[in-house]
Amino acid sequence: MIPGARLILLGRQGAGKGTQCVRLSRHFVVPHISTGDMLRAAVREGTELGAMAKRVMDAGGLVGDEIMVGIVRERLSQSDAVGRGYILDGFPRTVPQAAALDEITAERPLDVVLDLDVPRELVLRRITSRRVCRDCGTNYVASGSEKSPWICDVCGGDVMQRDDDTTEAIAHRLDLYEEQTSPLIEYYERRGRLAVIDGVASPDEVFRRLTAAVEGARRSS
Ligand code: ADP
Repeated sequence: MIPGARLILLGRQGAGKGTQCVRLSRHFVVPHISTGDMLRAAVREGTELGAMAKRVMDAGGLVGDEIMVGIVRERLSQSDAVGRGYILDGFPRTVPQAAALDEITAERPLDVVLDLDVPRELVLRRITSRRVCRDCGTNYVASGSEKSPWICDVCGGDVMQRDDDTTEAIAHRLDLYEEQTSPLIEYYERRGRLAVIDGVASPDEVFRRLTAAVEGARRSS
C-alpha cells in the first residue's frame, strides 16, 4: 500500500462514516478532516463561529457554504494535507461546496469519492443509539443499559448523546441530506470520480470494501 490519498467519504448521517474515516486515515496515513468535528471544537472553544454553528447544528440545519468553504480551504492548505492528502468527512454537503472544492483541489485532484450507502430506515435506528465523547469526539453505540453520562475509554471525558441527535433534528438532517447532499452522488458520478460502497455489512467488511475501492481507483487513474 502506498501511503497518502485524497478522498471524500459521502453518505447519510449514521452510515458509519466517522468510524470508517478514522480507520481509513490510519490506513492511508492521512489526516481525517471532519467538518462536524471542527465545528464542535469551535463550540467547545466558545468562539463566535462556535456560537453561530451551535444554533444551526442544534436545529439540524446546515452552516452557510461560504463559511464552510473558508474553513476547509484553510485546513487543506496546511502542510500535512498538501503533502500526504486527506480524507474529508462531512464536506462537501452541497453542490456549491463541491464546486468550490473542485477549484481548491484543481492542482491536486481527488483520487476517489466514496459513497457509503446505508438506507434511511437503518441509519435512523443507528443514530438514536449513537453516543459521543464530549471531550475527544470518540463515537460509541449505546445498548440502553449504560448510565448517562458514561466515561470515555480514550480520554476519560463524558460520553453523551449529541445535542443534535434528537428525533426532530435527525429527521431534518436526513431530509436535508436527500435535498442538498444526495445530488453530489450524480455530480461526482458524471465526473467519473464516484465509487458506491454498500455500507450494510460488518465494520471490517465495509472497511475492506472501502480500501479496495481506493486501490481500484488508483490503479485506473
Ligand atoms: P452528521 O452526524 O449529521 O453527519 P456532522 O458531525 O458531519 O454530523 O455535522 C454536524 C453538523 O455540523 C451538521 O448537522 C451541520 O449543521 C454542520 N456541518 C458539518 N459539516 C457541514 C458542511 N459541510 N456544511 C454545512 N454544515 C455542516
